[in-house]
Amino acid sequence: MDTTSFTKKTIGGVAQIEPALTPPITHAPTTFPVKPKQINAKPRSKKRDIPEGLWTKCPTCGTMIFDKELDENLKVCPKCQHHFPIGSRERIHSLVETCSFEEMDAELSSVDVIKFAGYRGKLERDRKNTMLTDAVVTGIGKIGAHRVALGVMDFGFMGGSMGSVVGEKLTRLIERATEGGWPVVIISTSGGARMQEGVFSLMQMAKTSAALAYHARQRLPYVSVLTNNSYGGVMASYAALGDLILAEPAAMIGFAGPRVIKDTTHADLPPGFQTAEFLLDHGLIDATVPRKEMKEQLMRYLDYFAAGKKN
Ligand SMILES: [Zn+2]
Repeated sequence: MDTTSFTKKTIGGVAQIEPALTPPITHAPTTFPVKPKQINAKPRSKKRDIPEGLWTKCPTCGTMIFDKELDENLKVCPKCQHHFPIGSRERIHSLVETCSFEEMDAELSSVDVIKFAGYRGKLERDRKNTMLTDAVVTGIGKIGAHRVALGVMDFGFMGGSMGSVVGEKLTRLIERATEGGWPVVIISTSGGARMQEGVFSLMQMAKTSAALAYHARQRLPYVSVLTNNSYGGVMASYAALGDLILAEPAAMIGFAGPRVIKDTTHADLPPGFQTAEFLLDHGLIDATVPRKEMKEQLMRYLDYFAAGKKN
């Protein structure tokens, strides 16, 4: 049999003779590299991966809620009415008449006055994350037919803690309301006084309370709304001084947390201690109002105060 041969160049430049015919199949054992078993590999989850930022799990009833639906429902679980935290801007938007809100002192921001370790970094981080300058937004707006001085705290900014800027902004708001003859509405959510500003934070308790006393002297109403959670120096000053004190359902309200109280007093605390419902039963607050009814209820109370003033 005639076999034509031709040369094939290899990479190394060495010529190699190769027959033109298909070489016979030899049954040489084929060896494939065996993949070693990965012992430490993560077991594949049978659950479908849920993309982050689209769904939120309700901590009370476990329902997965579509974020868009949660936003449209003012951050309240549609199934069990669990109230999620809501940002100050969204809250203001849900309460005031469109385009009626004029913000005050938006440029005021805290400085690291006692050189507290790490404070400067935390301030910068929260300014970036929340697009706020501090833990409260204040301004004059209309709720229904009523012009009110409105202050709304934001838990997203250093746990809604009260430093010198929060105290100053609220004091200026209350003083403006006293001059203008307007009611004050403050929506609180706070872990308490801001320890990173030491005694300057504590001084805000007296300052805000004094401003409210002048406001009350003009026989002007102040409505304090407590939301989850309202603690510490905020609760020990302006948040507890409302002519009317409202709270969102299931909000935790107190001075120190239940664990601290239990450890200090060595006493068993009653069930539901420090919830809005418990405090309603015991007379600290006047009503619990679901978030979606808050605007309507505030309008009703402000109508009532306005009618009382005329008479
Ligand atoms: Zn729920």
